[in-house]
Order: sequence, then structure tokens, then C-alpha cells
Amino acid sequence: MKLYEKSAYEIAAMLRSRKCSAKELLHDVMGRARELQPRLNAYITFNDQAENAAENADRLIAKGGDIPPLCGIPIAVKDNISTKGLRTTCASKMLENYIPPYSATAVELLEAAGAVIIGKTNMDEFAMGSASDTGAFGAVYNPADTAYSAGGSSGGSAAAVAGGGAVLALGSDTGGSVRQPASFCGAVGFCPSYGAVSRFGLIAFASSLDRIGSIGRNVRDVHMLHNIINASDIKDVTHIPKKFSKTLCGSLKGMRIGVPKELFDEYISDEVKSAVMNAVKLMERAGAIIKEVFLPSASAAVKAYYIISSAEASSNLARYDGVRYGFRADNCTTPAEMFRKSRTEGFGDEVKRRILLGTFVLSEGCFDRYYKRAAALRQKLCGEFDDIFTECDFIAAPVYPNAGILHGAERKPAELYAADICTVPSSLGGLPAVSIPCGRAGNGLPIGLQLIGRRCGDEELLDAAYGYELAGGGCDV
Ligand code: GLN
Repeated sequence: MKLYEKSAYEIAAMLRSRKCSAKELLHDVMGRARELQPRLNAYITFNDQAENAAENADRLIAKGGDIPPLCGIPIAVKDNISTKGLRTTCASKMLENYIPPYSATAVELLEAAGAVIIGKTNMDEFAMGSASDTGAFGAVYNPADTAYSAGGSSGGSAAAVAGGGAVLALGSDTGGSVRQPASFCGAVGFCPSYGAVSRFGLIAFASSLDRIGSIGRNVRDVHMLHNIINASDIKDVTHIPKKFSKTLCGSLKGMRIGVPKELFDEYISDEVKSAVMNAVKLMERAGAIIKEVFLPSASAAVKAYYIISSAEASSNLARYDGVRYGFRADNCTTPAEMFRKSRTEGFGDEVKRRILLGTFVLSEGCFDRYYKRAAALRQKLCGEFDDIFTECDFIAAPVYPNAGILHGAERKPAELYAADICTVPSSLGGLPAVSIPCGRAGNGLPIGLQLIGRRCGDEELLDAAYGYELAGGGCDV
């Protein structure tokens, strides 16, 4: 097995026992990432300081003593997470040359834990999309079959990890953007409880929904990464206190798993349904108790999600006006012309669509009809989740209705939005959710099982996901 194929756990042990150095490891993983780049387009920027970070890691390891947990491990970071001195574009022409003067808290925590930031990964522009094809740097291709998208919006992070071009990666999940690309690429993608990971330095899309999530090739690796970035941070007022991590034990005995009928409806393809139901049966054989549950607001949740997220985006993206930073159009004669031209030329079509939609739902006369109703629906949905969690410990569901999204296929935006039905409910509820490979479709693409947990029950959720892995779950079951 090549170094770049090994799990973070194995690599951490190898580094500590000097079976390889951080520098060798970086060369191997970076070499793989560059080799894949023409095929996958997973990265926007490679970090030219990575070599220095690897040398520092080797010095720390040579000193011995207390070696930080991620010491020497190459990690990719989605390009909407700020990295001091390293270009952060959000895959937008608007931020094409933006070099942040500070790092996101999650990135600072990774660096303090000895990680080596290998580069910044490609994505949908400002994380708006489902196929990593709305950005200014080209689409991301699926390592399992490049005719298909890597998913989105964290497609670059998922493709890099699945292909061996990173050991671990950070993504962001507002309505499914960590879980869905992880499922398409055959990786594990974890979206923690809202507030469990500081949003400081994550470039805002929809602030009441945005989360930084972890992607890895197995549940233990993801748990290892999440443990580092899960820390209290006064720079994010919505943060929740750190939960002390336990070693995963992976027992599913007596766990009550709810299967919501509404997330297995007719719009879910048969092969996805059957792969997910097989995973549920596997968990039952491992000792879990399966119950049918109801989430009546699931399909309305998609509408509420697109209203709320677009409303927040329209406000968050107002700052890109060409004045202080970001793209500025040339040859403008008045400030008004400069704002208009900078925004017209700097944003892509999908981002403009969301800004327009968001501005519309917040406008006078529409606010009560759209925004307020969406907010009420969100409350109702939270109540439905609370009811489920009185009788269940977890919820099992698909991640996405189909196995993969073909590149270049004609798609109406509304169809793509509607396909987010399985991921947006937990986003609106602020609940932790994880996607784990659970089989392959006829086209060869991996399929993901989604497990959703109680708010702040992140550790328990990852433990259940680990239980599924131990029971034999995975892509090639
Ligand atoms: N597909 C969803 C959207 O386009 C999810 C995006 C995300 O989670 N960043 O909004």
C-alpha cells in the first residue's frame, strides 16, 4: 500500500515510530495530488509553505516527548476557509486574488496540532451548489469516474481525500456540502452540531446554517480531525462548549435507529434506497433496534432552506462591492456604476440567482409570505426531530436521491435544489450528521448512508458510524 493510501491513524503511528518522515509523506501525498490535478481539478491553490511545515513537524517528532496529534499529517482545506498568507478564493472571481490577513480558528487549531496544510480545494462558488461546477476555476471530477461530478459544494475536499491527494480535509456544510460530496466520492463526511466548530474565518454563506466539517477515508480518521477543530472560541458567539472526546468503541447494541418514511419516498432511486436499507439491516444484525419514524416537514424543509439560506446570503454577500477588497471593475465613472459592474462581473450566475432570491424574500410584502413562513417551518421541523429523539438515538437516511451527478447534463436549478431533501432537514435543525459509504450503484459510484444524531450528540453519532464500519459496512459490502 502506498503511503498516500494509508489512514491518518496508520500514518500517525508510522511518523512516531520513524517509519517515515513528515517530509517523505508530504512528497508522496503532494505528488499524488499534483498527478491527479489535471484529471480531478480538486485544488485551486497548492501551499508552497507546506514543505516548511513538514520540516517543522519532523523537528518536533525528532525532539520526542509530547507530539501533537496531527503532527505531520497533510490536510486539505476548502477554499472558503481563511488561511493567513495563502490565497482564499471561495472559487469566485470576486476573491480571485484575496490573501487573508488571518486564519480561521479551525486552521489555527490544525496548525497548532502539527498538521501540514497541503492546499486549498475547489468548490462551488461561495459554496452554493451541489456539483462543484458553479465556481470560477472549473468543475471537480469524481475519482471513481470522471464522467461524474465529485459532488458539492466541498467537491475538491472529497475528491482529494478519496483519490489520495490529501489524508484528511476540511469542508463546509450549509445544506449538505460535506456529506453529499463525501458520499459521491466514497469518503466519510461529518457535519458537526451547529456551533461545535468555530465559524471564525469561514467565509459566510448562510450564517445560521454554516458549519465546518471533516472529511476522511474512515470514521476514526474523521473523529481524529474533528477532535482537533472542536474547541470553544470566543470569536464565534454561536460556539458551544467543547465536548470531551471518548475513544470510539463502535457498539450498536440496543441503539434505537429511526428510519423516516419521508426520506425514502419515490424521488429516491431504487438503488440508493436498497443500499441504505441494506446498511440499516446490517446495523440491526449488529444489535440496533430499527423503528419507523415520521418527519412530515421534510419536503417543505427544502423550500425553507432555500429561502433562509438565500436571504442570509443576500445580506452576507453585500460586502463584496469592490470598495474595500475583492474584485473591482475598471473604467467606472460613478460609485454606483462601480458597485454594479463589480458585482455583475465578479459573481457567477448561481450566486447572483441566490442574491436575487434572497433579496426578494426579504423585500417588503414578501417577508411575511416567505421568510417568516420558512422560519416557522424550521421551528416545526425542530419539534419533529425532538419527537423522534425521544424514542430513537439516531436517524438513518440516504444522503442524496441518486448515485452521482453527471457532468454537463442539462439541469434546472429547482431540480437540483429539490434533490437536497435528505441533507437539509438536519441542517435546519443544527443537528450533527455523517455520511458513510454503504455500497455502489450500477454506474460504479459509491452510495452514502446518512446517520443523524441529537444536537450536541456528535461523539455518540460518530461512535454509531464507527459501529456500522466495524459491522462490515462500506463501499464494497
Ligand atoms: N446544495 C446546497 C446549496 O446549494 C448545499 C450547499 C452547502 O451546503 N454549502 O445550497
